[in-house]
Amino acid sequence: AKEAGRNATRFFDQAMQTTLDHRAGLEAGLRHALAREEFVLYAQPQVNAEGALIGAELLLRWQPPGQALVLPNDFIPLAEESGLIVPIGLWVLHSACATLRRWAADPRRAGLALAVNVSARQFRQPDFVEQVASALSYFSIAPQRLKLELTESLLLDKVDEVVAKMRALHALGVCFSLDDFGTGYASLAYLKRFPFEQLKIDRSFIRDIASDPDDAAIVRAIVAMGDALRLDVVAEGVENDAQYAYLTEHGCRAFQGYLFGRPVPLAEFETRLES
Ligand code: C2E
Ligand code: CA
Ligand code: CA
Ligand code: CA
Repeated sequence: AKEAGRNATRFFDQAMQTTLDHRAGLEAGLRHALAREEFVLYAQPQVNAEGALIGAELLLRWQPPGQALVLPNDFIPLAEESGLIVPIGLWVLHSACATLRRWAADPRRAGLALAVNVSARQFRQPDFVEQVASALSYFSIAPQRLKLELTESLLLDKVDEVVAKMRALHALGVCFSLDDFGTGYASLAYLKRFPFEQLKIDRSFIRDIASDPDDAAIVRAIVAMGDALRLDVVAEGVENDAQYAYLTEHGCRAFQGYLFGRPVPLAEFETRLES
């Protein structure tokens, strides 16, 4: 039994070591990914109740040369821990502004909004407001077209600081969206302290909306709350007609999900806009 225990320990140590090696390799790769231009932005459409395009969300991918495309859930956590999310997030922000700049010149696209995900670590940088302000002026875009998606975790700590920053950005004209709503701790009373324009219902509530009365009730409550607080409500992860029908019947007016389009490389998204 002792022997088995030792083997188990050794096995565990080896597994740990493999995980650590994997992590170290990942972090080393990530560290050079920006300079080597290995990040790629995908765009996913957002539509209104009539199914017309109203904007897009930018979603980051990492393409290490000769390897499979890496999805954000497999590198964003590490980028956050290591602090690399700060320069990466700045690159995303600049790319979004450059895109809005291109769109502004085209009447068919000038009305579209573009959303970017901002991680808590990035938002909490002391110079985040200045970074956004200088990107807006460098690319001279209409700030209203830029939407910053924040998650509830950011709203739990140093609330006054967060509110002050959001107000400063809001004064510049930038819009805020509360991402993954319902999965964290934000409550109704809490929400009104922050200048959000929009909240996105997490897709875990949308998935079974047509069959699960609890999920359906939660979504109806979120839509009602959004109306009461004059927030736009976006349903995320809409994959089928039954979900879309339920949502439109119950007052939801903006949608994102595979039913309307999967995330595609930004260049491809822009080409489709032309046709
Ligand atoms: P998120 O912000 O909630 O983005 C939506 C995620 O849901 C995306 O996953 C998208 O591909 C996926 N999705 C969209 N529609 C559907 C659908 O109908 N069904 C299903 N099953 N999934 C759908 P993705 O691209 O893998 O991104 C995962 C997360 O990584 C994002 O979740 C966001 O939190 C984070 N992320 C992505 N890009 C960035 C970025 O540039 N910066 C930061 N800080 N985080 C990012
Ligand atoms: Ca998002
Ligand atoms: Ca989300
Ligand atoms: Ca249930």
